[in-house]
Parts: sequence; structure tokens; C-alpha cells
Amino acid sequence: MANFHGRTKALTITIIIATISPYQALVRAGHRLKQLKQVHAHLIISGAHRNLSLFTKLTILACSSPSSIKYAKKLSLAIPNPDSYLFNSLIRISSKLGFLNDAVFFYKHMILCLIPPTNYTFTSLIKSCANVCAFKLGKSVHSHAVINGFSLDSFVQTSLVSFYGKCSEVGSARKVFDEMPNKSIVAWNAMISGYEQNGLCKDAVDLFGLMVNSGFHPDSVTFVGVSSACAQLGALELGSWVHDYIVKHGSEVDVVLGTSLINMYARCGNVRKAREVFDVMKDKNVVAWTAMISGYGIHGYGKEAIKIYNSMQNYGPSPNEVTFVAILSACAHAGMVNEGRSIFSSMRNDHGVVPGVEHHVCMVDLLGRAGLLNDAYEHVRVLKRPSPAVWTAMLGACKMHKDFNLGIEAAEELLALEPENPGHYVTLSNVYALAGKMERVEKVRNIMIKKKLKKHVGYSTIEVDQRTYLFSMGDKSHPESIELYGYLDDLMRRISEVGYVSTRESVLHELEEEETEYALRYHSEKLALAFGLMKCKNDASVIRIVKNLRMCEDCHLAIKLISSIIKREIVVRDKLRFHHFRDGVCSCADYW
Ligand code: ZN
Ligand code: ZN
Repeated sequence: MANFHGRTKALTITIIIATISPYQALVRAGHRLKQLKQVHAHLIISGAHRNLSLFTKLTILACSSPSSIKYAKKLSLAIPNPDSYLFNSLIRISSKLGFLNDAVFFYKHMILCLIPPTNYTFTSLIKSCANVCAFKLGKSVHSHAVINGFSLDSFVQTSLVSFYGKCSEVGSARKVFDEMPNKSIVAWNAMISGYEQNGLCKDAVDLFGLMVNSGFHPDSVTFVGVSSACAQLGALELGSWVHDYIVKHGSEVDVVLGTSLINMYARCGNVRKAREVFDVMKDKNVVAWTAMISGYGIHGYGKEAIKIYNSMQNYGPSPNEVTFVAILSACAHAGMVNEGRSIFSSMRNDHGVVPGVEHHVCMVDLLGRAGLLNDAYEHVRVLKRPSPAVWTAMLGACKMHKDFNLGIEAAEELLALEPENPGHYVTLSNVYALAGKMERVEKVRNIMIKKKLKKHVGYSTIEVDQRTYLFSMGDKSHPESIELYGYLDDLMRRISEVGYVSTRESVLHELEEEETEYALRYHSEKLALAFGLMKCKNDASVIRIVKNLRMCEDCHLAIKLISSIIKREIVVRDKLRFHHFRDGVCSCADYW
């Protein structure tokens, strides 16, 4: 019976298809595999399969869905006289779906059918390679494009700039970019974001300058790229200039650009401006709200973060897991234990968000800072596989509250998780030293020497007159370095008079450079600070420095004292947070 019914059903469908035109049947089938197969059969029966446009339509429809792409491949082999339109469509659609291998299959088939590829063929293939960072394949597509005479096609070149940028081959991206006879705005944007995404923010900013000077009008994609570069650099002057430019030219600030500006101002140390941008934004999504909460959080403005979080609950979208990381770490930075605890428990109960590793890290940080080491440890224990970040937070708390047994456990766990991270060896040896276990200190240092572990390279940047200057430890590459070192030595002498002593013995920080007193004295943030003070001797503006690693205790102490003798506010953004130094104290209350 079932068989009989099945047959009647198939018969009915065939009859229906037979009563409408093959084209209508195709449109009705959409990209459902079963229906497409029926239409295919119908085309063969009615003899319409020799109609190239119908067959092409059928193949393209089959290619549009992951479930029928195999079928599309079979169809493409059966098509009698395929053309470049067919292949370009198949390559474009399979690339868009993320099926790079299928796109390459269609490309090869196209070549075998002796159909010359077009610029369209190459842009689709290159985009597809860029999306999955298929570097080798992308490079050979590049050579094919050159062989086929598309080396100077601006669409192909633009996709190559973006491809090389995404594969972290920024030099190659720039080479293609420089060779472009006609640079479109898309090409400029691709190159700027290529720099920015690879952390070469100074280059991104320089290229933006070149773009504006060459008479190109940036669009919102450019602004997003360059403002995130400014955010990473801490280049407030330039970031503000970009914002002014947007306002002056009446460019629309959509939610993506608005959020990018909020991040830029917050990360450049000007939360008030971040708030201004936030307040005038019309449509705020969860990313924008979260950016504002996190902006307050990294500056230690816990109360403001909570206020924004509360009004988000009243007027905004529902918070997501990223929002909870932002608000919990805001509570941690501001030492707001009760608030943090109640938000943590409301996550699951009121918002249905299950706490993840990052949320537990925030709780360890929050509770650990308050000296509630056992409560903090509970958050480590609930995790099946505690991450390095959890142990790092635990270790920070142990260090502050001098619980060296727990500290050693945390440091040993860290090292077991990431045995190639040189920072953990230093941390462990420092905890051993603090616990008085000197024989173990020696052991750890010997392992490091044996493993030839490379040290992190620390650097700091400072912006003076819209130019960003980069300093590394003991750096003498700057033309004014003689004057600069003299200036710094003088500052160090002056703070020694008010009680500064090098804190080399108690350092518990990421290994940056050699820990001799000489090295500590010329850490990059001290050089950047001295440079900033030397260059802006006569004004009272805030000095802003960005450091790529955590600040060490020595620099922290030195900068606190410098802020009091020179009566200037100094803001340092390190890997973890902001430090606002004023009158000899820091906003982090010496916990970071
Ligand atoms: Zn330092
Ligand atoms: Zn601080």
C-alpha cells in the first residue's frame, strides 16, 4: 500500500510539473534538492535540457544550498556548452557559502572547458581564500590572475589587498596596494584595516593621513578602521580629529561607527567623550551598551558602570555574556564585592546566561582583591578545566594577600597549562622567592635557560602633536635621546629625594627585559613619560601613555611619585587596565 501511495504521489508531482512551464517549475523548486531532481527529470523528458539558460538556472539553484552542492557539481559536468556566466556564478555562490574546495573545483572545470576566467572569477576565489586564510591557495590564485592578465585590475587588486591583510602578510598587501593605478575607497579601507587588524596601528594611521592628503573622502568603514587603530595606540588627539572630521562632514554615525568611537575615547582615556558619543547615538544595540559599560569599567568607575547597566535593563536590549564580563570586571576594578556578587547570581536566574570561564575570572579577581581568597578559590574549583586567566587572577590575589602556598599552586598550574610562556616561569620563580624557597627559584631559572625561552618585548607609545612615538626598553633610536635620558635621570634623582627606592626585589610581573636596576630605570613607559614631559614642559595637559604589557611595580611606584613632584596627571593604559596617576596616588589603588 505504502509503495502504491508513494508512486501516486510521484505521479501527481510529475503531472503538476508537466502542466507548468519548465521555468516556473524551477522557480517553485527553489533550492530544495528533491524538487530540483524532479525538475531535472522533467527537463530531460521534455527535451528542455538542451536549453542552456534553463540548465544554468537549475545548476545555480542547486549550488545555492549546502545540501545540494554535490548535485550542482554533477550537473556542471553534464552541461553541454557551459559559459563563463555559469562558472562565475557557481564560483561566487560556493565561495559565499564558504565551500572553498567546491569553488576551486568549478574553477578547474572552467579552465578544462577552455572558458577564459574573468576578473569576477578571481575576486570571488580570492575572497573565499581570505575568509579562511588559505594563504598558499590564495597565492596561486594570485599567480593565475597575473597569468590571465588581471594583475592591474582594480577589483582583483582590492581583493588581494584584503586577502594578504587577513593572512597577516601585510607587506604583500602593501605591495599590491602600491601597484594599483586606480585606488578605490574600498582598496584604501582594505589596506587600513589590514594594518589595524595586524596590530600595525601606526601604519594604519599614517595611511589614513596619506588618504586624506591625496584627496580621497573617507567613509564610515575608514572611520571604523582608523578609530580602532587610534584606540589601540591610545592616540586621543588623532582620534578626536577623526571624530571632528565626521561631524564637520555630516557623515552618518551608525551603530558600528558610534561603538567604535565609544571604544576609541574610552581606550584613549577620555570616558567623558565616550559618554557624549553614547548619549547622542540613536539606535544602541547590545554592543554599544556593553562598550560603554566596559569603558567605565577599565577606568575603575564602577558606580557609573552600574548606572549604565541598570538603565540598559530599563531601556535597552537584554545583556549578553559579553555585557556580563564587562560589568563584572567593572565591579572587580572598583572593588564592588556586593554588587558583583548579586549581578553574578542574577546572570543565570534573571537573564538565563550561564556563567562561563571569563565570568569566573572576574569573580576570582573581585573576591581575591577583597581578600576573600577562599571564596575566590571556589570559583576556580567549579571549573572543570580552569584557564590560565583564572589562575592568573588567583595568583594576583595571593600575591596581594601574601598567601604564598596558594600562590605557588596557582603559579605551578599556570606553568603546567602554558609551559612555553616565559612569563609564567618568572612568575613562579618570583612566588618561590617571596615564599623564601630560594632553591626552587634557581631550578626554575635554569629550566628557562635550558629552554632558551624568548622574553616578551615591551614597548610604550605616547602621542605628541598628533604623532605617535614608540619606545622600547633602553631605546636610543630617537634623535633626541641624549636629552631624553638626561631628562629621565633628572626625574629619577628628584623622586629619590622623596623616597623612591628601586623595587627590583619584589617584582612579580611579566618578564620584559633584564631585571637589573639599569633596565628597570629605562623601561619603555618611563622613557615615554620623560619624552612627553620634555616635549610639553609648559602646559598642564594630561600625559597619556600606552604600554603593551602589564606595568611593573617599579614603574608604577616611580610614576606615582613623578605625578606628585611635577603636579601633572599621568594616565597609563597597560595590558589590563588604566592607571590614573595624580598627586602621588593611582586610581588602581596599587592592585592590578
Ligand atoms: Zn617597568
Ligand atoms: Zn595603578
